[in-house]
Amino acid sequence: MAASGVARTSTAGPGPGVVVVGAGQGGTDTTAALRARGYSGPITLVSDETAMPYQRPPLSKGYLSGAVSGEDIELRSHSYFSALDIDLVRGDRAEKIDRDAQSVLLASGRRLPYEHLVLTTGARPRTLPVPGAELSGVLTLRGLDDAEELRERFARGRSLALVVIGAGFIGLELAATARKLGHEVTVVEALPRAIARAVTPEMSARLTAEHRRQGARILLRREVTALHGDGTGHVRVVELDGGERLPADLVVIGVGVLPNADLAVDAGLLVGDGVIVDQHLRTSDPAIHAIGDCARFPSPRAGRHIRLESVQNASGQARCVAAAVLGEAEPYTDVPWFWSEQYAMKLQIAGLTGDHDETVLTGDPDGGRFSVFCFRAGRLIGVESVNRPADHGIARRLLASGTDLSPHDVARPGFDLKTHPRESAQRTKEPNPV
Ligand code: FAD
Repeated sequence: MAASGVARTSTAGPGPGVVVVGAGQGGTDTTAALRARGYSGPITLVSDETAMPYQRPPLSKGYLSGAVSGEDIELRSHSYFSALDIDLVRGDRAEKIDRDAQSVLLASGRRLPYEHLVLTTGARPRTLPVPGAELSGVLTLRGLDDAEELRERFARGRSLALVVIGAGFIGLELAATARKLGHEVTVVEALPRAIARAVTPEMSARLTAEHRRQGARILLRREVTALHGDGTGHVRVVELDGGERLPADLVVIGVGVLPNADLAVDAGLLVGDGVIVDQHLRTSDPAIHAIGDCARFPSPRAGRHIRLESVQNASGQARCVAAAVLGEAEPYTDVPWFWSEQYAMKLQIAGLTGDHDETVLTGDPDGGRFSVFCFRAGRLIGVESVNRPADHGIARRLLASGTDLSPHDVARPGFDLKTHPRESAQRTKEPNPV
């Protein structure tokens, strides 16, 4: 599906308009939201990738397994961009922002003037500072090219020995896909539990148990000290602390990402683990916004600046920025939500669960359908659900409206979130007994 060189999908117009740098989820959705809200000025969307803008979530799931094609994961088609008069520039990189002249210089030499600039440059995988990390067969997974390479290697070899370094979302999704394809999978994680930064210990334990049940080896509290290759420079062994040596045909490093903020740093914008923005997602220069994986924004839910890596966050912030460009700025306050798929477990998270001090587990964990309700100081802050989409949907609504749900409510025998809002409305109508 990828074309090469600089490709362009039509259009130019009067006035400088909006330039969006990065045509991933956030960038593509920004252009769509601008047109949906009636913005009629010129819009240019710049991508340093040659492929048409695509969704990343399938890269560790259906695209990797071969269940869906490149076309299936396109965010928008050629005809969409031309119909909406959006100038999609592919295979060209934004190299420099000239804030005084309000223009962006591309690697091709093209200069794009802007009235509003939106940075949606995403993030890149962290590297692993160990000897041998440069060997062939040591990969990361962020873009379509990475997924294509992995997919091809998975298809070429039978029962490959795959070592995944890092038990985060991407590492575990990749591990699940590889197991389903029949490969031998070992996941090595330095922390005491899987996805430790994003889910509760209960959820980590259930996910880890399922991976083990499916035949993956999950090694916790283990550090990789070196990777060793054969005579051809291809990785063959992953060495762990303590000297254990794991055979490896393929290694994927999934140890988190770094925000792509170099453009912003060079332009003198405020940056610190992401481009720092205000509640309207404006950078320290009011003509420039930043959203999605590259942006660090003040979250009213977390009570501090955070950076989120999710489709919901990129899309929600795209809508918020489009409103700001049209002079209808509102603070960004959307309830964060996220999903992941591993084997038959569809995990959905509503809210931010990291700061919880109390949890209540409901449902049927052994039957693979359950939810973990997370509270802080007695207030609901998030719900992690596995195969309970109704819990997830209702939790999002409750979190958005502010809720009276307490740990005591959830722990009551027979508690059902589906009937809870009705029940609590009923309770508030009933007169207090005297
Ligand atoms: P991106 O989508 O990464 O887009 C940024 C784009 O900017 C890239 O194309 C990049 O090449 C380009 N770019 C960078 N610098 C420049 C430059 N100087 N000039 C031009 N272009 C530039 N989220 C979920 O909610 N659920 C999931 O199940 C899920 N699964 C995932 C699986 C994988 C394998 C990956 C990698 C991510 C997954 N995510 C998931 C996260 C989600 O895809 C990201 O949070 C989302 O794509 C962020 O959108 P973005 O626009 O900020 O960045």
